[in-house]
Amino acid sequence: MKYDLTIIGSGPGGYVAAIRASQLGLKTAIIERYATLGGTCLNVGCIPSKALLDSSEHYHNAAEKFTAHGIQLKDLKVDMPQMIKRKDEVVEQTCNGIAFLMKKNKIDVHHGHGSFKDKNTIIVTKDDGTTEEISTDKTIIATGSKPIVPAAFNYDKKRVITSTEALNIDKIPKRMVVIGGGVIGLELGSVFARLGTEVEVVEYADRIIATMDKDCSKELMRSLKKTGLKFHLKHAVTEVKATSRSVTVNVQKRDSEETFEIKADYCLVAIGRRAYTDKLGLENVGIATDDRGRVEVNAHLETAVPGIYAIGDVIKGAMLAHKAEEEGTFVAETIVGQKPHIDYNLIPGVVYTWPEVAAVGKTEDELKEAGIPFKAGKFPFKALGRARASMDTEGMVKVLAHQETDEILGVHMVGPRTADMIAEAVALMEFRASAEDASRMSHAHPTYTEAFKEAALAATADRALHI
Ligand code: FAD
Repeated sequence: MKYDLTIIGSGPGGYVAAIRASQLGLKTAIIERYATLGGTCLNVGCIPSKALLDSSEHYHNAAEKFTAHGIQLKDLKVDMPQMIKRKDEVVEQTCNGIAFLMKKNKIDVHHGHGSFKDKNTIIVTKDDGTTEEISTDKTIIATGSKPIVPAAFNYDKKRVITSTEALNIDKIPKRMVVIGGGVIGLELGSVFARLGTEVEVVEYADRIIATMDKDCSKELMRSLKKTGLKFHLKHAVTEVKATSRSVTVNVQKRDSEETFEIKADYCLVAIGRRAYTDKLGLENVGIATDDRGRVEVNAHLETAVPGIYAIGDVIKGAMLAHKAEEEGTFVAETIVGQKPHIDYNLIPGVVYTWPEVAAVGKTEDELKEAGIPFKAGKFPFKALGRARASMDTEGMVKVLAHQETDEILGVHMVGPRTADMIAEAVALMEFRASAEDASRMSHAHPTYTEAFKEAALAATADRALHI
């Protein structure tokens, strides 16, 4: 078995790299330690979480909004095993789709744990302990990430869980503690809160989604409180203890001795993820990792060992599927001598709560810190006819533009379908458009996208029309 390129890991980084490499004429192999392809994203991440978010949103709307729409429902209830079954079917179809794409693109799939024997030899250890060796000219490490779980949280996968286990809870819990007010904690916390679970979020920072624009944190928290989530900001969890039926979570107020306990059915640990390089044999090839265990790469995403590249969650940068995909394409094209480019500033970030949060470019704080003069235009969804029609009036769109040149520098949205709306802002910013450019484009009426046009108008010259 001799390949031009071998990719270790079949997540969105790895499988996209494989397809692009094959399109470019490289004889390509992909190694995956699990039985199904698609990595975290397809199996236990983006896709299953969105499936449950959609199901729980339907239920929540039926319970909370249908009456106002003039729809009466009797005996509304959740069939949790069916919800999980549908989610599993979506995952299965999506993973099978990747297997089909591998076949279609003539990519050899090797199931087993990949590790470096030397720079040009990868050992694949199968579940039954047998091994095979692959000779390769170039290699891409796309081994992704795993949840971070400190020892004091006593992670047992039953009561103290991560997102992986939370996606398979088939009975609605009465109470759940979520440690971490970041994207994963809030998305999964929303799923259960919508189904009726009392969800309490403990967050060390002074706001949720702390890396995003402050206005987004504020708007989202207001909405999530209405859904029923409770927040303990500026608090740290010091210990979690579980019995077979419940958990006790010890919480301490930040910068204080004040402590309290929360008892719940589950404790979901969602404090971040770590790069996964376990038993990869990096030491056999002399590849270094940084202080957070991430594989170090240069601007071409090549490690210190020529011919070995790394992409996705296992390297620095946002842990996002679409970032991993861009890097997969980037490396495949780099290997054949092309000159691809990724603008990391324009990788959008999305939170699939309801309302959704979506952002691209710089936040207000980042612009202030960098000393870049800017103007901000805001438009609330409550002033939009489309949003009133669907009863989705929470949230706003904010456009940040350069004070002198009017170039759009950041767009921050909280509201209905903003996960899809953000693509327009990314496209405009890729072409370095001004806020005025955005404000002069015709946006179909009535659509949620008009909120972006109005915010751009507000940023251009404080001339939003509908407020
Ligand atoms: P991964 O998807 O982690 O894939 C790595 C693969 O490598 C795995 O299949 C693993 O088994 C395999 N592997 C590891 N080591 C070896 C080895 N030695 N040999 C063989 N195989 C190996 N991102 C978004 O953009 N949008 C979202 O909505 C979103 N939602 C998420 C929800 C949840 C609950 C979680 C947990 C994550 C979510 N993410 C989301 C993040 C997203 O899943 C990751 O950023 C993405 O999967 C990273 O892709 P990757 O290819 O780098 O690695």
